[in-house]
Formats: sequence, C-alpha cells, structure tokens
Amino acid sequence: MVGEDSASKVYIRNKSKVCEDVGIKYEEYFLKENVLQKDLIDLIQKLNADKTINAILLQSPIPHNLDINEAFKAISIEKDVDGFNPVNVGKLVLNQDTYVSCTPYGIMKIFEEYDIDLSSKNVVILGRSNIVGKPLIHCCLNKNATVTVCHSKTKNLKDITTNADVLIVAIGKANFVTEDMVKQNSVIIDVGINRLENGKITGDVDFDNIKEKASYITPVPGGVGPMTIAMLMNNVIKATKRQNGMID
Ligand code: NAP
Repeated sequence: MVGEDSASKVYIRNKSKVCEDVGIKYEEYFLKENVLQKDLIDLIQKLNADKTINAILLQSPIPHNLDINEAFKAISIEKDVDGFNPVNVGKLVLNQDTYVSCTPYGIMKIFEEYDIDLSSKNVVILGRSNIVGKPLIHCCLNKNATVTVCHSKTKNLKDITTNADVLIVAIGKANFVTEDMVKQNSVIIDVGINRLENGKITGDVDFDNIKEKASYITPVPGGVGPMTIAMLMNNVIKATKRQNGMID
C-alpha cells in the first residue's frame, strides 16, 4: 500500500484477516505517500524475484503522482493475483486462462453458485472502471451475454437499465439505482460500498425497495465484498500451485 487512504487500510485489514483464517502467510509493505516511482517498482521487482513469495497485490488507489499502470505492469504475470498486469487483462479479453481481477471474478462465482446462466441475457453494467466495470464486460461476454456498459456520459440510463435481465452496478453512489430503474424479476448485483454520514455502509442500489421486484439481489455489506476476498484467496492458491508445478 502507498499512502494513507483509510478505506484501503480497512480493505487490507480484511484481506489479512482472511489470509490468517485460511492459513496463507503474508507480508505487508506500507510505503510513504511521497515514495518515488522507482522505489515502488524496485520493491515489486524484489518480490517478483523472491521464490518464497507466490502472490503480489498492490492496493489501489495509489497517489496520483505515481503511475499505477507502470506499477501493475511490473508485477510478474505469475504472481499478479489481482489480474491487473496488462498481459493478464489481455488474456481475459482473449478468453484465455488468466488471473481475473477479484471483484468481477467474485461476481461470476455468484452467478455460477446460483445457476444464473448469462447466455443470451441482456447484461447491463453501470461503471467502466479498470478494476470492476471493464473486466466485467469480458467476463460476461465470455459467457455469451449481450453486454451494455454505461458511465457518467450515458444518456437515458433508465431506458437501458429497465431492459436489463442482469444489472451490475459499480459507480460508488449510495442508493443510486431505484425501483423504477429495474426490470421485474431481474438479477441485481450491487458492487458499491458507500459510507453514509451516520457511519452505515450502503450499496449503489436501493435494496429495500428493489428486493421484492428482483429475482436475486446482493446485499451490501455481505454480498460482492466478501466474494472479492474469497476470489483473491482462490487466485493466491492457484498461483502457488502453478509455481510449484501442481497445475498447468
Ligand atoms: P470508479 O473508479 O469510481 O468509477 C465509477 C464509475 O461509475 C465510472 O465509470 C463513472 O463513469 C461511473 N459513473 C459515475 N456516475 C455515474 C452515473 N451517474 N451514471 C452512470 N455511471 C456513472 O469506481 P470503482 O472503483 O469501480 O468502484 C465503484 C464502487 O464499487 C465504489 O463504491 C467502490 O467502493 C466499490 N467497490 C467495491 C468492491 C467490492 O469488493 N465490493 C471492489 C471495488 C470497488 P465515468 O467513467 O464516465 O467517470
């Protein structure tokens, strides 16, 4: 982690706790806000070369004066358990075996677990971030969904969302998606994590008013968040097995 982002500290604590629960050893490196790009890359390369380290995760965001894409590119593709090295991103686009970034991967596992077949479905994704929206496009396309991606410049959002068999929302605005924006019996996946003034955590979807209309809906907290960490552990185990010749 670079800098002092308070949400990132919570995420790191949660990930560390799950590592302890499942018996994965981890090391934490907290770099100062004013660290040089070169020193960040040097640390990543040191960890790349260390055979006792199987997985590397750079917590985002990092300070804007640093180039996060260069940092992701520096992570060895075999240890890139967050799937942000451009080679691993490219493999996802090409529908090849790769490390899929953990939030989209967790969402795909939810579909798998609940037997939600995406083939021929209209999947609408709200948000086009590199860590959630964009990889999700390819995850859903690879499952033969018809995918529409919306963002802050999208017009007539409601016309699009009311046509969604599956609506995945990752924009970071509390209770943004309201009941009139969703189709009857649709599947709603809420990725958002928003802290209200009263300290309560809520998603991007108005859960209470949509839950009767949807066939499935993920809660916040307790839905996509824990799945993200579970899939991180899954990727770490996969990387470790692969580096030890236990899987191809
Ligand atoms: P981000 O980088 O902040 O991007 C937000 C996206 O939402 C952008 O693509 C933006 O469009 C779009 N957007 C903003 N306002 C919109 C509007 N009114 N209509 C349509 N699209 C709009 O987001 P992120 O990093 O993907 O995170 C999104 C949310 O998910 C946050 O609450 C974050 O905390 C949460 N999150 C949760 C997990 C988890 O494990 N559960 C993991 C990652 C993130 P433009 O591109 O046009 O600006």
